[in-house]
Amino acid sequence: MDGKEQRLLAIANSAALRRGTEVGEARFSRGGRFAYRWRMDGRRIAVLYVTDYLDEAPDRALLEFMEGVMDSVRGGTARFGSAFMEYITSDAFILRKRPVFLRRSRNIARTDAGRHRNIYDAAQRLLDAGLISPEDLDCTYFTWTSAPNYTRLGYCHQMFRVVAVSSVLDDPAVPEYVFDFVVYHECLHLRQGYRPFDRRPHDAAFRRQEKLYPRYAEAEAYMKRFPAMGRGRRSGK
Ligand SMILES: [Zn+2]
Repeated sequence: MDGKEQRLLAIANSAALRRGTEVGEARFSRGGRFAYRWRMDGRRIAVLYVTDYLDEAPDRALLEFMEGVMDSVRGGTARFGSAFMEYITSDAFILRKRPVFLRRSRNIARTDAGRHRNIYDAAQRLLDAGLISPEDLDCTYFTWTSAPNYTRLGYCHQMFRVVAVSSVLDDPAVPEYVFDFVVYHECLHLRQGYRPFDRRPHDAAFRRQEKLYPRYAEAEAYMKRFPAMGRGRRSGK
């Protein structure tokens, strides 16, 4: 264990001891995903692995993260405190760790400029139409995927504020309102922001906002064609 992991272990144990357990070893793990996992040894946590995106988190934020983790290890309702939430949603954290996340991400072109379309142009049209506000786009990174994805047309990583749009939409044959709708959908996830332990991102409030898009039904209907296009391509037809 290095100095960073000694600090991690000390903080993990201060959260663990108050919950009647103990952590034997704490390690930072280098994965693309923001995750944590653990190995139990009876009632004791033998090893705790925590994403290395948190290796520079202030003590208070890290302690609150550990408290949330301990509660989820014990099967309770996990919640993160406000110091953790403030840190993790700060521009400072995002700008420092997002480049690491992007380096670890596969299938992103790392540019918002496609062969035919620019993702920012879609965002600008959405702004002009009053569907989104400049705050929705704060500290956001837009990129095309490098390979086309036919089943997932857009993707939003809410913590790192990364929106990836499938390159199948970078095609003049796809109507612009369909492209804009996919970008709009992802911007609504940006508006939600980071919501830890969220299992229902498409809740009623989200669906209500989605339907404000003027050609919502048409766009949804058009999007149903893409999976079949992908299957046709794979089978060489
Ligand atoms: Zn979604």
